[in-house]
Amino acid sequence: MTGRNALVTGSTSGIGRATALLLAGRGAHVLVTGRDRQRGEEVTDTIRAAGGKADFLLADLSDARSADDLAELALATTGGRVDILVNNAAIGALGATAGFDEALYDSHFTLNVKVPFRLVGALAPAMAEHGSGAIVNITSMAGQFAIPGMAVYGACKAALGMLTKHWAAEYGSSGVRVNAVSPGPTRTPFVAPLGDALEELAAQAPLGYIADPAEIAAAIAYLAGDEASFVSGVVLNVDGGRTAL
Ligand code: NAD
Repeated sequence: MTGRNALVTGSTSGIGRATALLLAGRGAHVLVTGRDRQRGEEVTDTIRAAGGKADFLLADLSDARSADDLAELALATTGGRVDILVNNAAIGALGATAGFDEALYDSHFTLNVKVPFRLVGALAPAMAEHGSGAIVNITSMAGQFAIPGMAVYGACKAALGMLTKHWAAEYGSSGVRVNAVSPGPTRTPFVAPLGDALEELAAQAPLGYIADPAEIAAAIAYLAGDEASFVSGVVLNVDGGRTAL
């Protein structure tokens, strides 16, 4: 990935952080993004200490305009060339449909769907102009089958999975590939509120354990790289076999 610029949203922790480290390890210049400068600088320092290239871009993506600003900043930082975009930042609150807070509902669809939509709208045209690019969206098992309490989050992830296919169709003739990774239970701060339910969810899958973020990052890096040159429009389940059942 030497010579490629990669923007990974929400890369100050969990799967995004592991992806930033892996892409940088493969030679990409990684734009680490997040809301917390200290955590972002920890990631960029780690990458640089290992001989890699990284910059931190502060970005709170809680509204669509911030996505446009981030895209602009990413293009300015890279001389107009973002080759890899990983739409990873997301929120996922548990809650019953009746009484689900309207503002929280809107926050889910903004960060989990509208922000990726705006980032692709802002960055894919430049990729298309250069004749190549790779976009990887992070979806979820909850976007493929019902998990109690995850209706809003699951609906967002199903939307992102479908957008993946539309974008693959829309940009494919310009050499831009668009895929998704759908992780199973992975040990990150995101799922801490699930407590024991996370173990139970993991136990439902054939492999039966909670993944390490690096195991998800490996699939993201594959889809972002040249080894996947003929792969587009795919939602790759990296879930210990859970969706095989
Ligand atoms: P995480 O909490 O470590 O990562 C989520 C990231 O999104 C964080 O860096 C967080 O700061 C960022 N983020 C949240 N709100 C933001 C905002 N307003 N602006 C900018 N950034 C914001 O959790 P993770 O598990 O690594 O999640 C990464 C992706 O994986 C998410 O898309 C999540 O839906 C998906 N996922 C996770 C699991 C799991 O079991 N951990 C399973 C399926 C899918």
